[in-house]
Amino acid sequence: MKTSQSNLFEGISRRLQMTESFELSWQSLNAYGPRYNYWCVAWSGGKDSTTLVTFIIWSIMSGKIKAPKKIFILYADTRLELTPLFYAAQKIMEELAEHGYNVEVVMAPMENRFLCYILGRGVPPPNNATFRWCTSRIKIEPMEVKLKGLVGELGEKVLMLTGVRQGESAIRDQRIIMSCSKNGAECGQGWYQETLPESLCDTLAPILHWRVCHVWEWLKHWAPLPEYGDFSTELIADAYGGDEAEELNARTGCMGCPLTDKDTALDNLLKKTKWEYLAPLKRLRPIYRELRKPQNRLRKTGLEVNNEKNKQRMGPITMAARDWAFNGILAIQNEINAVADKIGMPTVYLLNNEEQIFIRKCWSENLWPNKWTGEEPTGDTPMDTVYADGSVQPLLFGK
Ligand code: SF4
Repeated sequence: MKTSQSNLFEGISRRLQMTESFELSWQSLNAYGPRYNYWCVAWSGGKDSTTLVTFIIWSIMSGKIKAPKKIFILYADTRLELTPLFYAAQKIMEELAEHGYNVEVVMAPMENRFLCYILGRGVPPPNNATFRWCTSRIKIEPMEVKLKGLVGELGEKVLMLTGVRQGESAIRDQRIIMSCSKNGAECGQGWYQETLPESLCDTLAPILHWRVCHVWEWLKHWAPLPEYGDFSTELIADAYGGDEAEELNARTGCMGCPLTDKDTALDNLLKKTKWEYLAPLKRLRPIYRELRKPQNRLRKTGLEVNNEKNKQRMGPITMAARDWAFNGILAIQNEINAVADKIGMPTVYLLNNEEQIFIRKCWSENLWPNKWTGEEPTGDTPMDTVYADGSVQPLLFGK
């Protein structure tokens, strides 16, 4: 009896908190929204931006906020979205279309996509803050190009709505600190807020104050109801590991993201029997790690005529290593899809046909990053040490 009473009150209190959160969001949208004819939503398919998209559309449909002349929903497809998230996004796109809202997919051009850049051009996988080329190349730049085109056509700035969330501290601090992985955020979402040029858009984060439990509550229990839009948002919870994720405030990013210590989202997902067939994706990170090893990369001898300080820097991935990784990734894909077909689950295309053709073409053209020819020695080749001032210390034991 005691338990059921406390659950009842918990339920009521959560509901109240939810409606307070809604209220604050409507207030900010009604205060800033009418200043712009056009709104854009940067939707990554993760929990926060999916909450934002579905909440905004429901709020418009239910008359809680005034619709702009047009709302552009831009789905940022990195090509490496976790399978259930990608699958959920496809379903939600169909549902949005049923409500009269078409979604535009924003994707990096072929040469800049994560795997094409690594395997085609030979650029090593990102590994830390100093060599983190991925977020801008696969998320920010494509969104910026899309926005530029849009603003050019419309002839006026748009209001960009982002799913950035800071929970209660947002209200206390009045301060927005952005980072790719902060507070369970999706990689990229803070960056939209931080980096999209002010000349194209002003940004508003209408769910800034939502707590993570409100996000889950919305996705699992509210948005799927017909009176709240009838969206397939409960699928998102799977991708974050279901109920456990609510505690963890889990984040997702690209499959096999080399910048995180663990595949937390994937590990949580694999605990669910129906997604177990995705287990071969665990081999992605070891492949990226291998590609960064000296024997798989070229290295400057330091004797080249250049002014670079880091004279013997390590550089691109050898052709042999690219070929090895390419086949390894295709094997992962084939293994998953063979099972997916059998059990009727979504297939995975880490490298689609076009991308495979593109990468092979790069190889046939002997493509290397700028300032590299492919003639350099591999990183594990013993060589004299060349210092920044050009002085040379010969190898102690000869070559
Ligand atoms: S999730 Fe990882 S790999 Fe993907 S853009 Fe972010 S940091 Fe890069």
